[in-house]
Amino acid sequence: MKIAEKLKNKKVTLSLEIFPPKKQDAFESVKNTAIELTSLKPDFISITYGAGGSTQSNTSDLAQIIENSGTTALAHLTCVRANLEQLKSAIKSFKDKGIQNILALRGDFPKDAKEGENIFPSGMNHADALVRILKDEGFCVGGACYPESHPESVNRDNDIELLKRKVDAGVDFLTTQMFFDNDMLYSFLYRCQSAGIHVPVLAGIMPITNANQVARMVDLSNAYIPRKLLAICDRFKTSPEAMYQAGIAYATDQIIDLISNGIRGIHIYTMNKPEIAKAIIRNVDSIIAATNGE
Ligand code: FAD
Repeated sequence: MKIAEKLKNKKVTLSLEIFPPKKQDAFESVKNTAIELTSLKPDFISITYGAGGSTQSNTSDLAQIIENSGTTALAHLTCVRANLEQLKSAIKSFKDKGIQNILALRGDFPKDAKEGENIFPSGMNHADALVRILKDEGFCVGGACYPESHPESVNRDNDIELLKRKVDAGVDFLTTQMFFDNDMLYSFLYRCQSAGIHVPVLAGIMPITNANQVARMVDLSNAYIPRKLLAICDRFKTSPEAMYQAGIAYATDQIIDLISNGIRGIHIYTMNKPEIAKAIIRNVDSIIAATNGE
C-alpha cells in the first residue's frame, strides 16, 4: 500500500526504521529482526540504504520480506557513488520486488572520499532530482528534512526554501532527522507552513538507551540535547538497566507530547533492537488507538 494513502486515512501513524547488515553473513539475523518488528503491527517499516557495498541489494531484499509478511515497506535510496544506469537498475529492482514506497535521498559525502572524486556520477547532487525520477516511475516518494537544519545549510531560511523545492518536485511526505527537543520540531513546522510546505511530516524519534550513544547522535545529526536528557545520561551512564529504562521513558514522553500537540506521524529509529520498539509501543499503543478512534 502507498504510505500517502495511510497518512490520509489515519489520524496518527507509527512507523519503524531498521538498517540492513554491513556483512552478508548477518542478513539472517536482520531478517529476523524485521520479521519481529512486523509483529508489532507498525503502519510501515523503513529500511535504510548503505552508501556503498553489499547492503544496497539487502535494502530491497528486506523490503520485499517485510511486504511479503503483510507490512508496508519504505525502501531508502541514495545518489551516492551511483551513475544513472545504476540508479535506474536499483529502481527497477524495487519495482520488480513489489515495493511502492521509496525515501529519496541524496546521501552523505562518504568519509573515505578521495579529493576530486565525483561522489554523484549521475549528476544528481540533490535529492529533488531523484524525487522527480521516482514520481515518474509511479512510486509514493518520501524525503528527509531537518528540524535543526541540514549541516550543510547556509541558514534556516535557505534550508526551508530548498526543502520547498524538493517537496515541489513531488515529495508525498517528509521524515525528520532525529531531534530531542520537541520545540525544535514545532518551530520547524511553523516555518514549513509559512513557506507553503503542506505535506505530512513524520517525527523521527531516536531512543537513547545507552549514554555513550549521545555523542554519536550529536555527531550524526547536530541535534540539540536538552538539559533533561543530558542529566539522564550523566546520572545513569554507569547503570545500563537504569539508562535503558530512562531512555525508553524519555522517548515515550516525547511521543506523548507530539501526539498531544497534533503531530500525525511518529517514526522510531529502532537501531535494529525490537525490544526497544516493543517497550515504547507498549507505552503509547492506547494513546494512538484512542487518537485514531479505535
Ligand atoms: P538534499 O535534500 O539534497 O539536501 C542536502 C543539502 O543540500 C541540504 O543542505 C539542502 O539544503 C541542500 N539542497 C537541497 N536541494 C538543493 C538544491 N536543489 N540546490 C542546492 N542545494 C540544495 N543516508 C544514507 O546514506 N542512507 C539512508 O538510508 C539514509 N536515511 C535517512 C533517513 C532520514 C529520515 C534522514 C533525515 C536522513 C537519512 N540519511 C540517509 C542521511 C542523508 O542522506 C543525509 O542527511 C544527506 O546529507 C542529505 O540527504 P537529503 O536527501 O536530505 O539531501
